[in-house]
Amino acid sequence: MAVVTFAGCGDAFGSGGRFQACIHLRPGPGRAPVLLDCGATSLTALRQAGLDPGEIAAVFVSHLHGDHFGGLPFLILDGQFSRRVAPLLIAGPPGTGERLTTAMECLFPGSSRARRRFEVTVTELPPGGPRTVAGVTAEAWAASHPSGAPALILRLAVGGTVIAYTGDTAWTPAIQAASRDADLLIAEAYYWDKAVPHHLRYADLTEHEITARRVILTHLSADMLARAARHETDRHETARDGLTITI
Ligand SMILES: [Zn+2]
Ligand SMILES: [Zn+2]
Repeated sequence: MAVVTFAGCGDAFGSGGRFQACIHLRPGPGRAPVLLDCGATSLTALRQAGLDPGEIAAVFVSHLHGDHFGGLPFLILDGQFSRRVAPLLIAGPPGTGERLTTAMECLFPGSSRARRRFEVTVTELPPGGPRTVAGVTAEAWAASHPSGAPALILRLAVGGTVIAYTGDTAWTPAIQAASRDADLLIAEAYYWDKAVPHHLRYADLTEHEITARRVILTHLSADMLARAARHETDRHETARDGLTITI
């Protein structure tokens, strides 16, 4: 069982007033939650959803764009100022450690070297696996989405529940492999059918066989949000900020 809360399910540009990617996964009662992506707005998104950032044991990062990892410096600083002691694990594509240090130094100079009561450990996930981080088993596939480092499509086993996540990516058969018979696929649906490089279209999801038992759309553009409001995407569920499901 896992409880999934979409603290943030928007794109990079605040379309529809939504927070950037921040999906909170709780493996079961009494178990520490993990995050799937941590966009720049995530600390606000978590508090808006009534979720405690200090509880988060690990963050799985799909790729190194600001709307997916830009919240990490704020999460780490919040831990520092709230006297967190529990370790924080960060698992992301190769290059995550260096990019995180660069982001921290850019936003809060000196913060990457500050003394903290808790340890921050970065585990880099090349495509492949499985690897276990904070009790979550992660497999990764290469996404098609340039971000200065490899981008990942992730498949996580969380408390016996299998959750696949496209991150941002152009269509690739790796989406089918990563989500094969999964309990849930969280899928980017940025555009309807317009050919846009590096991103997933709703048409890609409807034109290909997906065997995941449940699909929830995320990272919608303003146009896609309007279509969802007109029920044009009703073949699938659509996330909204604060949506919580148990699977
Ligand atoms: Zn994005
Ligand atoms: Zn991106």
